[in-house]
Amino acid sequence: MNAHRVNARTLKPVVICSVCCTASLRTGVPEVVAVRSNVGRFRGSAFPVWRCADCGSIHAAREVDLGSRYQDYPDHAPVALDWRRRLLFRGQLRRLKAAGLKRDMRILDYGCGNGALVAYLKLRGYAGAVGFDRFTPAFSSTIPLWPRFDMVIAQNVIEHSSNIVGFMRDLARLVRPGGVLFVGTTNAAAIDLRAPDAFADTLHQPFHRKILSLRALLVLGHRNGLALERLYHTTYTDTRIPLLNERFMALRTAWVNDTGDTPLLPVKSRHRRRFWTWRALLLALFGSFLSRKTHVVAVFRRNQAPSTGEARP
Ligand SMILES: [Zn+2]
Repeated sequence: MNAHRVNARTLKPVVICSVCCTASLRTGVPEVVAVRSNVGRFRGSAFPVWRCADCGSIHAAREVDLGSRYQDYPDHAPVALDWRRRLLFRGQLRRLKAAGLKRDMRILDYGCGNGALVAYLKLRGYAGAVGFDRFTPAFSSTIPLWPRFDMVIAQNVIEHSSNIVGFMRDLARLVRPGGVLFVGTTNAAAIDLRAPDAFADTLHQPFHRKILSLRALLVLGHRNGLALERLYHTTYTDTRIPLLNERFMALRTAWVNDTGDTPLLPVKSRHRRRFWTWRALLLALFGSFLSRKTHVVAVFRRNQAPSTGEARP
């Protein structure tokens, strides 16, 4: 485990949580849980994770070089804006509008993957929407840092960073004072590590390197001059529209190919009869009411006064 240090006085291992390390040091080794990967390329592999007893965040314990793995990450493949994505993005747009989105704003989708949300926003008249994703050639050029953005969206991004504290700081700096940072991520507090297989899709090993608890996310926001304005306990893909909810999509993905790679992959005919079960029908229709609330979306507004020591780039 990369977080072990030796305490010279007791010679007991000390585990340092890189999320809350300035606040606490806890002696003793936390329980390490092996989690099966839900990604096809790692089929059959299990990866160790552990939870910080202080802030509740979950850490991937084994170093894995994932740089090259992101080249063919499923969210980076081009997709059409089909009816399902449009419906999902309509819900996301509703949330962005509630956060103050206006058509003349500069908007950045950080970690935009295939750029589908950017394309949708442009289609809806938000001409100032741009995307950045260093693993997608079409969006990998350097982000223009000035003027800063009125709204920065980081949906399902921060949990992929091993340096999540620095990542949040960098995201905050992309937002103009008074602007909005929209962070959607997995909530460690909703994950029960006593039943890791039940949360394999959420833990998404080995790609999720640090999963913050809601408390840790809010503290990180506060430290970076971000005031919480609104909180959602589900992701925009968890809707009340039949078939389009997280529980059903997780079941669907597991049954279709057990990879977690392609939640909207067409279902092959030989798999279709598997969906004629009471459980599948229940989740298809009412899955959003049975949400485990494993995602959280925090809408932060950056304080008007720039942080000390920050200069115009
Ligand atoms: Zn911690």
